[in-house]
Amino acid sequence: MQCPYCQYTDSRVLESRSTEAGQSVRRRRECLRCKHRFTTYERIEFVPVTVIKRDGKRESFDRSKLLRGIVRACEKTGIDQRRLEALVDEIEAEVQQRFGREITSNEIGELVLQYLRGESEVAYVRFASVYRQFQGIRDFVETLDHLKSNPELIEIPPSEQTHSVNSETWEKSVLRVGNWE
Ligand SMILES: [Zn+2]
Repeated sequence: MQCPYCQYTDSRVLESRSTEAGQSVRRRRECLRCKHRFTTYERIEFVPVTVIKRDGKRESFDRSKLLRGIVRACEKTGIDQRRLEALVDEIEAEVQQRFGREITSNEIGELVLQYLRGESEVAYVRFASVYRQFQGIRDFVETLDHLKSNPELIEIPPSEQTHSVNSETWEKSVLRVGNWE
């Protein structure tokens, strides 16, 4: 990084601070030659990601679509909009870092489930039922049983476990969530 005063290329970092919710890093630097101080910003490079859908069609990764699916799955679970936006940020960052330029819609779905698992049982089951295309009530009950017998999958403080899932909730939810893809 060139010093803006003397164009020397070596500097030392005095301070690093993450800004814009981890999207960039602000660094305070000191030129090793003229000792002037200056600030640099490092940004994560945005890589366009292509999503490969179940039917083989390709489209670019659409953050707002992902948010819509998550918002619907989280309806009436008490999770606020800011938290949902933060979830989408985290998922998007992971897509960028782990998968590179291509990801299947299945991989996105599994990733979303990993995140929803820690947020709300209801949201998890709603999203799972749509995205895994449950064939009927049996699939739903199996997933629910799996969740119940693996409580470590649900990291919700007991105080927040006010929304329990039943088949009726599920059926209504599925209608609402629709095809998240
Ligand atoms: Zn300098």
